[in-house]
Amino acid sequence: MTAQIIDGKGIARQIQAEIKTEVAELKARSGIVPGLAVVLVGEDPGSQVYVKNKGIACQKAGINSLEFRKPADFSESELLKLIQELNRNPEVDGILVQLPLPKQIKETSVLYAIDPDKDVDGFHPVNVGRMMIGEPIYLPCTPAGIQELLVRSGTPIEGANVVVVGRSNLVGKPIAMILVQKAKNANATVTICHTKTRNMEGFTKEADILIVAVGKPKAISGDMIKPGATVIDVGVNRLPTGLCGDVDFESAKNVAGKITPVPGGVGPMTITMLLKNTLRAARLRLEKKG
Ligand code: NAP
Repeated sequence: MTAQIIDGKGIARQIQAEIKTEVAELKARSGIVPGLAVVLVGEDPGSQVYVKNKGIACQKAGINSLEFRKPADFSESELLKLIQELNRNPEVDGILVQLPLPKQIKETSVLYAIDPDKDVDGFHPVNVGRMMIGEPIYLPCTPAGIQELLVRSGTPIEGANVVVVGRSNLVGKPIAMILVQKAKNANATVTICHTKTRNMEGFTKEADILIVAVGKPKAISGDMIKPGATVIDVGVNRLPTGLCGDVDFESAKNVAGKITPVPGGVGPMTITMLLKNTLRAARLRLEKKG
């Protein structure tokens, strides 16, 4: 048996087309064009690519993209001042500060300075809290993208045994929190594994849905997967041979029922969810206008 490949690229394209239509409808109805401010400090090559891709995706969806590129020696106080200006700017619905930031800037100081209503990355503690109590405005983009992949690939979530390997604030903890909610497209029984988990295989082999976000190439092999399970590989590891995930795709695809490839699985969904959150932020602007 060979697993069905979950086509993240195709699903992302489909959602982006839906967002484009909704952006056009919002504009026609209210004159509001969603605006996303992206702040990039320094010259990190990976970040430059991400920022460029975000700009292109915004443009395609009809979202205004404003880029703020600052030198690597930009100070924390200068950055905080910029964030305050963006918080006040009525044309800016979402603010994204590209991580990592240079060493002289404390990431949490900057992320916590963003108005929670404009925090389209969903990293502000207010938004983390809202997610936790099941009243989210913005879900963090990568975990939201994973949930969407599960739904659109027809993977039953309610009552499923979900095992998440990795407990980062970026991926592991939020996806566990999203899928355990008493809510539609959730209601799963969730276990989180990490480096101190004893007998990890004992957990992964029981998973109907296995989500792997560890940042270690091929950390999970086919013999650790329950036959027929849906496997979501979040990992992006750059090897001399190219990109690879945290799951050993070759052995996993012979056991899993469905599996995401790397690249072309979770990756394209992250930007898509950013667009979705920006649209949500623009709708919030309209609601506030009354
Ligand atoms: P992270 O902050 O480094 O966290 C890794 C987590 O994995 C930690 O909780 C760690 O446990 C756990 N871990 C590491 N090795 C393990 C092992 N052998 N067994 C069990 N648990 C292990 O990483 P992250 O930010 O969550 O990212 C994970 C991966 O996803 C990376 O490859 C990253 O590039 C990728 N990613 C992709 C996207 C996307 O859009 N596709 C977005 C975000 C991240 P401890 O807590 O015990 O140390």
